[in-house]
Amino acid sequence: QRAWILSNPPAGEIQKDTFELVTRDLPELKDGEILLQVESLSNDPAQRGWIQKDQDPERAYSPPVQKGDIVRATGIGKVLKSRSDKWQEGQRVVGMWGWTDYAIAPATAVQFAAIDLPGKPTASLSVLGMVAVTAYHGLFDVLDLKPEHAIIVSGAAGAVGSIVVQLAKNVVGAQRVIGIAGGKDKCDWVKSLGADDCIDYKEAGWAEKLKAALPKEGADRVFENVGGEVLNEIFKVTRRFGKIASCGMIAGYNGAAQNLTNVSEIVKNRLVLQGFIVIDIGARWPVAVKELAGWVTEGKIKIDGAETLVPAKVDDIPQVWQRLFVGQNRGKLITQLTN
Ligand code: NDP
Repeated sequence: QRAWILSNPPAGEIQKDTFELVTRDLPELKDGEILLQVESLSNDPAQRGWIQKDQDPERAYSPPVQKGDIVRATGIGKVLKSRSDKWQEGQRVVGMWGWTDYAIAPATAVQFAAIDLPGKPTASLSVLGMVAVTAYHGLFDVLDLKPEHAIIVSGAAGAVGSIVVQLAKNVVGAQRVIGIAGGKDKCDWVKSLGADDCIDYKEAGWAEKLKAALPKEGADRVFENVGGEVLNEIFKVTRRFGKIASCGMIAGYNGAAQNLTNVSEIVKNRLVLQGFIVIDIGARWPVAVKELAGWVTEGKIKIDGAETLVPAKVDDIPQVWQRLFVGQNRGKLITQLTN
């Protein structure tokens, strides 16, 4: 087994010594366990939170990764050997297999069998994966989006955001869907998914353009993925009694200050800001996946172009993951292990 362990939990930017690549012999397979070859890995901004230095575990939604542990990551693994009745050799299964090439895990660690869409073996990490369920839960349960609403979606060219845009326009039929993303190419793509407009937040004057793209009163709903400067400007264009679902704050994950100087807008304009975590959907997860699969079949959620697949050796797993923090992905960033 070659695996990346957490060697030095980071407080700010990722350092050279944050992770360490180790080579180990795997133990014998015990009753109830499976041996997996990890085929592909999900790259998630949340992993940055799980490895953060000096966390209060009482306040974390999942236990922090400990020093010396394999870095936690969701992936698709192929069962090479099984000593469980539940999973057979050759099956492809989703679970938190971590930054490793091979893993031994209890059969109960399997979350579900990978769903194979024609030509899209990684759909369980993208359009039918956790990020899609996050989009579903945030949009329908937290924001209760209606056709009469105007909605802003930040991080709109990312894994979660690109699905939010499509659900908002192609499923709900919201009157105005405005994406925010970094760069013209990403914005063109977001518009091709159905957004009425997309604002490039890396361009000067973007906040004025955002305001101009919205109805006069502002946005009724916001699906907010990034925090920082983007959220700060969003406060000023969310309409009175409007609602912001706070899904993520990637702008601050590597230690940068969020600088939310416009936060008093919450009081002045009676905004509701609600954070949520996808696990809050609980037992309705498979219901969401089923519904999402239907929309993929109907073409309301596009699978073509929804993934940035990066073939990589185990050695390069951390570098690929770090692309998230510099915007080097469109849709879901997936590592395909080649060794
Ligand atoms: P993405 O595919 O959206 O990738 C991250 C994107 O964030 C980048 O491509 C980049 O896009 C953008 N970004 C990076 N740094 C910054 C910055 N400083 N300011 C603004 N944008 C930045 O990742 P996911 O879709 O997986 O996750 C999106 C967000 O949703 C994250 O904040 C994540 O933590 C959160 N999340 C929350 C969940 C929950 O349960 N609450 C579940 C899953 C994800 P660009 O080029 O446009 O800048």
